[in-house]
Amino acid sequence: MSATVRDVPITAAAIRGEFPLLTNTAGGDRPLIYLDTGATAQKPQAVIDKITECYEHFNANVHRGVHPLHERITAELEASRKKIAAFLNTRPLDELDLLDDVSEIIFTSGTTMGINLVAQSWGRQFLKPGDEILLNPLEHHANIVPWQMIAAATGAKIVWCPLTADGRFDLDQFDKLLSRRTKMVAVTAMSNVLGTLPPVGEIVRRAHAVGAKVLIDAAQSAPHAPIDVQAWDADFAVFSGHKLYGPTGIGVLYGKLELLDEMGPFLGGGNMIDEVFDDHSTYKRPPFKFEAGTLPIAEAIALGTAIDCVQAWGWDVIHRQEQALLEACHERLEVIPGVTIYGPSVAHKGAIVSFTVEGIPAHDLGTSLAQRGIAVRASHHCAKPLHKCLGVDATTRASFAAYNTLAEVDALAEAIVNTQQMFFRRRG
Ligand SMILES: *Cc1c(COP(=O)(O)O)cnc(C)c1O
Repeated sequence: MSATVRDVPITAAAIRGEFPLLTNTAGGDRPLIYLDTGATAQKPQAVIDKITECYEHFNANVHRGVHPLHERITAELEASRKKIAAFLNTRPLDELDLLDDVSEIIFTSGTTMGINLVAQSWGRQFLKPGDEILLNPLEHHANIVPWQMIAAATGAKIVWCPLTADGRFDLDQFDKLLSRRTKMVAVTAMSNVLGTLPPVGEIVRRAHAVGAKVLIDAAQSAPHAPIDVQAWDADFAVFSGHKLYGPTGIGVLYGKLELLDEMGPFLGGGNMIDEVFDDHSTYKRPPFKFEAGTLPIAEAIALGTAIDCVQAWGWDVIHRQEQALLEACHERLEVIPGVTIYGPSVAHKGAIVSFTVEGIPAHDLGTSLAQRGIAVRASHHCAKPLHKCLGVDATTRASFAAYNTLAEVDALAEAIVNTQQMFFRRRG
């Protein structure tokens, strides 16, 4: 652990070297080109090793025993929770003079589960007929459908805030729609289709001015930029482990403690109770009130390892590499006749490029790229309202991480041109 070793900034090539899957081929000697991090990120060796270590050396259930194995696994899990709290820059709870085992970090199965938890627990309790939930077309279905469900159950109403023509969040429209009826603003920190980065802190500030709560969907932003729930003053924030280089099946819900304390539980069962009587039960404080049943323990611990990796790489290196990839991708694709890139200019977005190619259905393009070893997404990307705004059924999406290379961007551009040649030759 000499200081000089840690002072040398890690390179993007060194980051790539930590991902064993990326050394695979796409069949034969064709390289595997993974441009689908927006759907799920690949896993560094340290995360894979941590899961194995958990099962090989300290597998047991947490919080439930006196054996050293229980102590070890519980300590590992709670250490991961603390790492996540620091990663999100939550308030240090000891400053709040709280009991030891209270936390604002709740383990969930992922972003979808976290939003459903808030919609059901907070929404059922606090939404009344006529109240408004403010959404915008950048949202993933996971940040739309749970709100529609709770709106139907409570009589609250969904209100849509339109985007600017180039696919940015429109603060002027937002101001016009905000009112005392607005009770919840649910907004993504990064669009999984356009890469748009809504001004989260400003949205929270304006929402709070009318008394609304704000949930930030950080699923797509988490691997690309720091989350700071204090700077945002977010009431709730959610993300998924698997998009942050961690395991599937684990995610995080952050909530302000005073809100979590007011909310009833979402799921009932073991682990979350204080007392169980014949006719009712009392519940623990957060996080355990919201963690009924056995967690994906190894996954939760390995998520802490994924965060260690991100912090070792450093946001500067990650950002520089992703920005270079994004700019190169725009430059290479914009000059191909027939290619349309959707959303804002590179100055207003993260490393995601969604596009269409005139005359080639997105699915056919995706299939052709796949045959050339390139993994992209070709669909509505769980964002049908957004595609309605864009006026297309589907787009092809290249999404990047710091482990991608400029040569891979070149390969994408070349494969698009080859596909055009093949497609139009075949059609005559
Ligand atoms: C992926 C994604 C989700 C859903 O995440 P799950 O891990 O499938 O629960 C929600 N919102 C955004 C912006 C996403 O990119």
